[in-house]
Amino acid sequence: MQEGGSGLSWQEARSLEELERFLKGCLRCGLGRGRTNLVFGTGDPFARVMFVGEGPGFYEDKQGEPFVGQAGQFLDQLLASIGLRREQVYIANCVKCRPPGNRDPLPEELEACTPFLFKQVELIAPRIICTLGNFATRTLLQTTAGITALHGRRFRRGDRVFVPLFHPAAALHKPPLKSILIEDFQLLRGYLEEDLGGGGGEAEASSSGCGGQEPLFSESGVEAGEEAAPGEARQLGLF
Ligand code: SF4
Repeated sequence: MQEGGSGLSWQEARSLEELERFLKGCLRCGLGRGRTNLVFGTGDPFARVMFVGEGPGFYEDKQGEPFVGQAGQFLDQLLASIGLRREQVYIANCVKCRPPGNRDPLPEELEACTPFLFKQVELIAPRIICTLGNFATRTLLQTTAGITALHGRRFRRGDRVFVPLFHPAAALHKPPLKSILIEDFQLLRGYLEEDLGGGGGEAEASSSGCGGQEPLFSESGVEAGEEAAPGEARQLGLF
């Protein structure tokens, strides 16, 4: 994929704007043919904290923005509870085009699209990445462990820290998760304060290289075995 006339490839993009320009016409996987809008991501291009969900839903596809609708409003409230606004963080998804019927992205769709996410991470260089829900957590941390076991904890990869959190949509579905998510955001506030202090906290997993399109998270620093909660939400990949 090259930008018309420039001869540059997306891997050489030097800014989020450049990368987004490359992706506007992307048909690298089948999801591209069904999209109304590409949902690239939004927020501060130099954010210290980044949130990653699974993929665009119905309203995101219509508006071209991640986390709109009820789940997005709840995310805004959660951010406000720790003194942040949406414009101060960066929000993106594992895949940039809507999977039909809000199904989970297929392995080949992930394989096609996650290099773009990793390029975003490289360009933004956030200190902390919060994975929202089971799907994003398993994808980014390369683990079979579920969000129920991992939420609120920290996992270090290279010079970044990953914090799995329940997906706001799951928390809206299941009230008990809502209070857990609210509490986990307070943990996140503490992690951010520690990071500002320069300590970086005691992340649980050891360090590995993190960059480019290589498997960023190849090191198995998270114990496997914890399974997701059963039922409908599991189908949604939310927890
Ligand atoms: S989901 Fe990603 S790889 Fe697939 S068409 Fe959209 S931007 Fe391209």
